[in-house]
Amino acid sequence: MDAVIIGGGIGGLTLALALHRSGIASRVYESAPEIKPLGVGINILPHASKELSELGLESELARVGITTCESLFYNRFGQLIYQEPLGRYAGYQWPQFSIHRGDLQMVLVEAVRQRLGADRVFTGWQCIRFEQDGAGATAYFRHTATGEELPPQRGAVIIACDGLHSVIRKQLHPNEGPPRYSGVNMWRGVTRWPPILSGASMVRAGWFTPGKMVIYPIRNNIDSQGRQLINWVAEIETPRHKQRDWNRPGELSDFISAFEDWHFDWADVPELIKSAEAILEFPMIDQDPLPWWSQGRVTLLGDAAHPMVPRGSNGAGQAIVDARALADSLSTYKDPVEALRAYEAMRLGPTAEVVRMNRKNPPDAILREVYLRTGDKPFKRLEDVISQDELRAISDGYKRVAGYDLASL
Ligand SMILES: Cc1cc2nc3c(=O)[nH]c(=O)nc-3n(C[C@H](O)[C@H](O)[C@H](O)COP(=O)(O)OP(=O)(O)OC[C@H]3O[C@@H](n4cnc5c(N)ncnc54)[C@H](O)[C@@H]3O)c2cc1C
Repeated sequence: MDAVIIGGGIGGLTLALALHRSGIASRVYESAPEIKPLGVGINILPHASKELSELGLESELARVGITTCESLFYNRFGQLIYQEPLGRYAGYQWPQFSIHRGDLQMVLVEAVRQRLGADRVFTGWQCIRFEQDGAGATAYFRHTATGEELPPQRGAVIIACDGLHSVIRKQLHPNEGPPRYSGVNMWRGVTRWPPILSGASMVRAGWFTPGKMVIYPIRNNIDSQGRQLINWVAEIETPRHKQRDWNRPGELSDFISAFEDWHFDWADVPELIKSAEAILEFPMIDQDPLPWWSQGRVTLLGDAAHPMVPRGSNGAGQAIVDARALADSLSTYKDPVEALRAYEAMRLGPTAEVVRMNRKNPPDAILREVYLRTGDKPFKRLEDVISQDELRAISDGYKRVAGYDLASL
């Protein structure tokens, strides 16, 4: 058994490590000319950090990222709505990490190179299509920079981890429409800033219609003044958006007006935004869940299988959980076709639920409820607007659907 993995993102690299642990050989083909730290912050919740810990990566992730301790929700007037502990601080056996997605990717690729061998990761290989027969599957490539044809690569299975714009997904489902825009556009950046609140807090504030903010630290002690690298995301309801690209530059003037008066005791938000090193822009998009992922010896994993709007810090987490499930299936079943079918049976239903829940009631539904019930006005007494039990029920309901509630994990 050997697997051809298309895409060296979080899903593809985690899969290579999980297969290696199960004694299954694989090769990773990535279209980018090199794997380098790009993008901004990401949260790894306990269900995903469990899998990464079991792959022996916990101490390295704790070294490069932040072990997040609490989550706080505010309205746009800076009034606290809800607060809860996270990861080990909430009693989980595994931590929550807030981390630069580039740092996470470098931890994964270094582990793949060490464990599988540096010659198992190919960069500049852009997959264009696949073929399969009864004995194996073949992926076809061209060189990303020159367009020149590269030698076809054959394996017992092909796993498409090539993200939102997956070519393999398009080949399997040619009539699917383009990604669905949620109506919310995002601008993201990182700023060198003194620690906010506990120094390991995840803050969500405001609501999409006037403007919502997510703020959390992703690197500790980055200079002699003990500052952190703070990740922030501005999310605003607007029809204006462009195609998703991890590196599309964004303009401050397109969104700063929504946050100009956000001067809080825990942070001066407009100053935080204006001090960013760079700003990136992303549309908030997803796809309707697919009816099937696998055809014979070929299947989908991660965003290629189930792109979701990033309102629950869960897309990469679900890709990581997929990787474990697929490695388990491939080591359980002798027949690769049966293994891919079993993997799909395990993961398609639960991930489809997360895609739907991320549209309807992810954790930030807490902010929506208060926004609607107060008519976007400051409240005098929060308990007259919504009870802590109701807020906790929103948060816990999401954890159950996404597979990281304390009881089942
Ligand atoms: C703004 C934002 C915030 C997010 N925050 C979180 C969060 O806090 N927590 C969380 O868990 N998730 C989060 N996500 C979701 C998460 O980033 C994705 O779900 C995750 O990156 C999916 O991993 P993947 O490996 O499936 O795809 P990707 O990370 O997109 O990787 C796909 C890889 O395949 C390569 N590739 C593409 N096409 C080809 C080809 N034809 N041939 C070869 N290689 C190819 C790409 O270059 C890329 O390296 C967020 C997403 C966004 C947009």
